[in-house]
Amino acid sequence: MTMNNQGRPSRADNAALISTPTFTGNKALQIEELLSFEIGSISQTGVDIAASTGNVDRLGGLHRDDDIGLPGLSEPETMRHFVRLSQKNFAIDMGPFPLGSCTMKHNPRLNEKVARLSGFSDLHPLAPQAAVQGALELIDRLAFWLKELTGMPAVAMSPKAGAHGELCGMMAIKSALDARGEGDKRKRVLAPESAHGTNPATAVQCGFKVEAIPADATGRVDLSALKEKLGDDVAGIMVTNPNTCGLFERDIRAIADAVHDAGGYFYCDGANFNAIAGKVRPGDLGIDAMHINLHKTFSTPHGGGGPGSGPTVLSDALAPFAPVPYVVCENGIYGLVETRRAANAETAGVDSMGRMTAFHGQMGMFVRALAYMMSHGVDGVRQAAEDAVLNANYVLARLKSEMTPAFDGYCMHEALFDDRFLEGTGVETIDFAKAMIDEGYHPMTMYFPLVVHGAMLIEPTESESKRELDLFCDALLSLAKRAKAGEVEPFKAAPIYAPRRRLDETAAARKPVLRWRPEGDI
Ligand SMILES: *Cc1c(COP(=O)(O)O)cnc(C)c1O
Repeated sequence: MTMNNQGRPSRADNAALISTPTFTGNKALQIEELLSFEIGSISQTGVDIAASTGNVDRLGGLHRDDDIGLPGLSEPETMRHFVRLSQKNFAIDMGPFPLGSCTMKHNPRLNEKVARLSGFSDLHPLAPQAAVQGALELIDRLAFWLKELTGMPAVAMSPKAGAHGELCGMMAIKSALDARGEGDKRKRVLAPESAHGTNPATAVQCGFKVEAIPADATGRVDLSALKEKLGDDVAGIMVTNPNTCGLFERDIRAIADAVHDAGGYFYCDGANFNAIAGKVRPGDLGIDAMHINLHKTFSTPHGGGGPGSGPTVLSDALAPFAPVPYVVCENGIYGLVETRRAANAETAGVDSMGRMTAFHGQMGMFVRALAYMMSHGVDGVRQAAEDAVLNANYVLARLKSEMTPAFDGYCMHEALFDDRFLEGTGVETIDFAKAMIDEGYHPMTMYFPLVVHGAMLIEPTESESKRELDLFCDALLSLAKRAKAGEVEPFKAAPIYAPRRRLDETAAARKPVLRWRPEGDI
């Protein structure tokens, strides 16, 4: 009997038997899952309903006579199918999820409990305002704390994701330029090469042309290169801080001043706010607009395209253009402002940009985020940021001996490695990441940011314990050593233990098969 790395007996001596196929194709309790169409028959139903009689056709003969083409499954078959599928997925509730830039932290169950209170979960967005005073107060209170934590005078609550918040901020910048009569002149937006893809995409969506600002040797914005690009045709700049290399932009004030002097606005991608919440107020850094991903910093669940929420804080210069609706409170009564046009004659011509969503935003996420803030308190939010940075630096320090950090010095909330340590091994970043799946880890963010060759961006977040971090680091160190020892094959074949081995991700993205067709039907 052999022992595993943690000193527990393992059955590696039975390795030869592992490749023996089972009759069912199942691997112990890992069930080989078929499509629901393949489990159920489309000519049957899962329930017995007596044939209906005496129906009168009121559809003028347009009713359907043939099969509806849905699989007929019994209730237990349906339940098992979806529960088994859910178990094939990975989630933060199953293990560490070190996806850099995504802040996959634990979602406290208290948040879920509060969000499920019927007074919140059963709300209808068209309910009369008098009947939902508590919900409006909650939105207002969350807005207050977001403004307080960022040091900004206004916040638009309705954007439904980070990218949507970017759109809100850039539309506010466009509105402000139009109000100044410079909308046609200022068409250039500057963004660092390391920017998240949503930054340039948003700017282009708003009709701007994007120009890249190079990074300096320390992984930060090259201030002199930025200054050279400024001019009276620049609408603004989009900078992430801490940036996507996991580093704090030390020149952030100088960047803000230079952009403002040139007549532009400063958009900050605040997706990485988790690293600085309670420590630095973006408002003090000269920022005009910044989205906050509630589903990152304030722990509301995300991943798999689940609901996000991207409230966007705005400076005094941009606040008048904020989208409607927004919550106001007069004499203790909460209400929603839904009209675009400024009522005040002094601000004539300065109108809200209009609506970004049908209603007020992601109410369920607001409840969870406020529950997180209230249960942590200001000191707790600050400590979460400090612990996130501490954990990332712990990972950086532990992995340094075998892996190559992309930049020298301490990091913020994420540790960035390049692929120099894999040079000459035949193993690439993608193989290394896939081998992590065999070790039971969701891979880190790969090949992003683009400015670092073969990038591996690890964000442990504050919610991992030292024990989890140590096991994670031990696993990565062992992989790095194996790669250097010339064990290429297991890396190229990884993941070996996953139900569906290595997928052709390009084909899956370019030629997705989204529709089941009966056999023989093409
Ligand atoms: C997550 C993220 C975004 C986008 O947020 P979504 O909610 O996914 O739209 C933008 N920028 C950065 C740096 C991010 O990490």
